[in-house]
Amino acid sequence: MQDMRQTYVQVLEYIQGGLPDDPIYDWILRETTARGIPEIQVTPVQGRFLRLMVQLLGARQIVEVGTLSGYSGVWMARALPADGKLITLEANPKHAELAGEVFARAGVADRVQVIVGPAQDSLAALVLPAPLDLVFIDADKPSNDHYLAWAMGHMRSGGLVIVDNVLANGRVVSASPDDAYGSSIDAFNRDVFARLGELATIVPFYKPDEDNLDGMLVVRVP
Ligand code: SAH
Ligand code: MG
Repeated sequence: MQDMRQTYVQVLEYIQGGLPDDPIYDWILRETTARGIPEIQVTPVQGRFLRLMVQLLGARQIVEVGTLSGYSGVWMARALPADGKLITLEANPKHAELAGEVFARAGVADRVQVIVGPAQDSLAALVLPAPLDLVFIDADKPSNDHYLAWAMGHMRSGGLVIVDNVLANGRVVSASPDDAYGSSIDAFNRDVFARLGELATIVPFYKPDEDNLDGMLVVRVP
């Protein structure tokens, strides 16, 4: 019997081969590699998931924490109406520079604002014209608590907060005390389960390049 990893990879290739894809996404990945930027973006399946959430919410106002090269940003921005807005926060100027080029090439520059700097500072200074429909948190993981609390205070009822990378390749299940990363993600999840469990779920996803069972936490704002 073939192992599950092989099955996951084949199934993801099946999805990828069967669903139409814009060449912009491959261009982003090639350019990310060429510029020595880490390839830690969401997968194509996760990009489609984010796009669907934007569409179902009828979202007009989105904040993303952690832009990288703009890969997840393009999936979300393209699903916005012409007068919608994605504000995306990035600490690394090199990442933000590529993201700016990416949003222009993807034809969504008019809908996207990239703010360069530590996200906690950018969020504190942000003046929003309307409550947010969606916040996507995908930056420095120890700040997840802070970002989630900020999001809950700036969203419309029925909006969604999505937090990426909450399964740590399964290490959340039995993180040993010397696994600081796994333990901190586990502590974050447990806190959300205890406080917001009725409003939350985790959707597992697989990342074949990293052989990583990862997931996205989704919290509905009451
Ligand atoms: N959402 C992107 C991936 C983001 S990777 C996608 O899926 O396409 C995480 C990004 O967060 C990196 O580019 C990193 O530079 C940025 N980052 C890390 N700490 C940050 C901070 N404190 N403030 C803002 N950005 C930060
Ligand atoms: Mg991520």
